[in-house]
Amino acid sequence: MTSDTRVQGGAREVAPLSADPPDLDRSCGSCTLCCRVLEIQALNKPAGVLCRHNTGTGCGIYPKRPETCARWHCLWRRINALPDTLRPDRSGVMYSLDSRSPTADAPDAACIVGRAVHDDRDFDRPETVEAFAMFVREGSFPVWKVSERGAFLVHPGL
Ligand code: SF4
Ligand code: SF4
Repeated sequence: MTSDTRVQGGAREVAPLSADPPDLDRSCGSCTLCCRVLEIQALNKPAGVLCRHNTGTGCGIYPKRPETCARWHCLWRRINALPDTLRPDRSGVMYSLDSRSPTADAPDAACIVGRAVHDDRDFDRPETVEAFAMFVREGSFPVWKVSERGAFLVHPGL
């Protein structure tokens, strides 16, 4: 499991739940949001700062990118049921499956986190509201919203 990613707007480092690259039908296209949002310790890259290897459309060191980059995928990449409009660069919200809660004062548990990267008003888009509702209906994991305003538990999980 990788453990050297952190995220802008969250109080704690992100610990991805699975290190196994999933079978992915989707590609990132022109989205490079996680290259800005995540902290990549292997590159000494802080959260919220665009990686120096980002070309604007992709990764300039793709064959040699850190393991963290190779293994980490947002939930839009992993879940085809999420519509194209929810690609993080389009929606402003990046979903991830994390191995622990985004705040230190909450019990640690695997959880789904939706992070508003620019503006928490992006949480109000209808497709984003529906995505949170989908995760809540599924119900297995706690669901969190994280933005510059902090981390809020939307659903406690089972
Ligand atoms: S946020 Fe998701 S879609 Fe965007 S570059 Fe990262 S993995 Fe790809
Ligand atoms: S090394 Fe490549 S994939 Fe990793 S954060 Fe930098 S630009 Fe993105």
